[in-house]
Amino acid sequence: MKFENVLIRFFPTVYTEANFVEKTFQSLKSQGFTAENAIAIVDVCRDEISQPFLRLVKDKWGEAFNLCSLAGMFFAGRTALLAAMHHAPRQDGRERYVFFAIPHVAVDGGGQIGVCERPGVGESNACGALNAFLKELQKGKLNVSLDENDLEQSLLKMRLLKEIPYGQVPDLLSLTRLVQKVIITDLENALRPIINPGKCDYAVISGIQIHGPDGNYVCPSPSYAIVKGTRQDLFLPGAKCV
Ligand SMILES: [Zn+2]
Repeated sequence: MKFENVLIRFFPTVYTEANFVEKTFQSLKSQGFTAENAIAIVDVCRDEISQPFLRLVKDKWGEAFNLCSLAGMFFAGRTALLAAMHHAPRQDGRERYVFFAIPHVAVDGGGQIGVCERPGVGESNACGALNAFLKELQKGKLNVSLDENDLEQSLLKMRLLKEIPYGQVPDLLSLTRLVQKVIITDLENALRPIINPGKCDYAVISGIQIHGPDGNYVCPSPSYAIVKGTRQDLFLPGAKCV
């Protein structure tokens, strides 16, 4: 199966990364969020092939607070959220935060899920952290202790094992979809007790970043803005780009 066919089969709507950032920017503008009055807060994988997303967000929103971790898991916690929120501009008596929380997966030209080409490396994997976790699951021998020399991967395994039924081994795409939901759940759980809708508006933008043979794409997941305490789902206009 070719890359394009994998997109059509597994990702109902796909935008180029730049188009996704532009569409969400425009959509949030209509909800009162601008580069001048909001801070962007980004959580993607540490992988260098995920970083173009950060640069695109920076171009639109200005420098972003960085929550990145392996696989884009939300491990930065309440302290990081409080710091990011304290750095938000204060305009009209309100603060505005725009969260982007987006895990990733590669799909190569031949449609192999999890496979990408890296300059000087050749065939490689993404997400490598999820791939390593899957390999342990497949072996049926999983180290779930907290390794002080491998904190993020230890936490990743501990957190995801709570979501995977005992004995089951998901495929990489199913695991990536699970990670997307886990990241949003964990972000929302950390946010809820510390956010004041009386003085803060915020948006949570999510999806899956796809590394294709010709660049990065994003398949959006349900995203929303909370403005003056009222939730508005964000609908991204535009057609499929493949
Ligand atoms: Zn990764």
